[in-house]
Amino acid sequence: MAPEMLPPGSVIGMLGGGQLGRMMALSAARLGLTVHVYCPDPESPAFEVAKAHTIAAYDDEAALAAFAGRCDVVTYEFENVPARAAEVIAERTLLRPGALALATSQDRLVEKTFLRTAGAEVAAFAPIDGAADIDAAIAVTGLPAIVKTRRFGYDGKGQRKVDSRAALVAAVAELGADLILEALVPFAVEVSAIVVRGADGAAAVYDIGENSHANHILKETRVPARIGTDTAAAAAALGRRIADALDYVGVLGVELFVVRDGGGERLIVNEIAPRVHNSGHWTEDGAVTSQFENHLRAIAGWPIGSVEMLAPTVMENLIGAEADAWARITADPRARLHLYGKAESRPGRKMGHVNRI
Ligand code: AMP
Repeated sequence: MAPEMLPPGSVIGMLGGGQLGRMMALSAARLGLTVHVYCPDPESPAFEVAKAHTIAAYDDEAALAAFAGRCDVVTYEFENVPARAAEVIAERTLLRPGALALATSQDRLVEKTFLRTAGAEVAAFAPIDGAADIDAAIAVTGLPAIVKTRRFGYDGKGQRKVDSRAALVAAVAELGADLILEALVPFAVEVSAIVVRGADGAAAVYDIGENSHANHILKETRVPARIGTDTAAAAAALGRRIADALDYVGVLGVELFVVRDGGGERLIVNEIAPRVHNSGHWTEDGAVTSQFENHLRAIAGWPIGSVEMLAPTVMENLIGAEADAWARITADPRARLHLYGKAESRPGRKMGHVNRI
């Protein structure tokens, strides 16, 4: 049976009010969909482009229930939505992507186990719940390795590269329990597959993007990635397989390492993000349908739009004071500037991005 298509005028609920929510709200307006943002931060960048907002905590069940009651479908722009919040919403309205995608991506141990079951290669990994697990974990991953908190890590936070047993002991003492140790992947390039899967199960994958980081924060995505065509096709197939395994609805970001050995290229999945993704921002100007529009189309039960690349594109993140160069950037008529309207610029804070076609 074809999924129900929510008509224009329907209310899309958005958990989280950051730049991803803001860009989704802008796309929603173009489609005649109404957005209601839910976020505890009164300064949320998405508020100024949405019709309605709720300022409340993610554990305020009464506020969540009232919000859900006003929305035809609820989505989110960050993966750390508490399980209970997702439950309160799913009891009252559609939650897309569903709770399985949240639970899987919130915990690196669950995520890696799932990815392996879904047929994806991941770095060798082992859980560490305390000092007693250290030797067994090193036996699995070898050294050097990366120790990470299982939950709430982002942009390199909550992780340490360790070269020795002593360094791991110190890192575990510092980071606490609920950790995962991962083998260090000797990757040549980092890429991402941005997958969109509709409520009818039809899926498409954008051209694979090549990512470079500065200070653990995404700096640039270039499309197409400089990898073999077979590798790009394999990355797309892998993204689609992961989305199918989650019975996913919406846009899914899949971050991958490309390892070059023996003259070939091998893909190792790093992590998945159940939401629109920073490495997909190029699609706003470089693809027929942006990732934001496609996420909305999917969660509203509409057919997904073409993911075709219009022209090779480079997306540059503007981090902290880099956004002060906005006037100079506008002097290039082909630079498409996107600013998030954040009042305060802080080092490491994503303030905007530029797409160069
Ligand atoms: P994550 O928070 O897991 O996305 O990691 C942030 C960044 O750290 C990645 O984009 C990689 O550059 C690096 N990294 C994470 N895990 C590994 C790994 N197992 N091997 C090599 N580099 C890694």
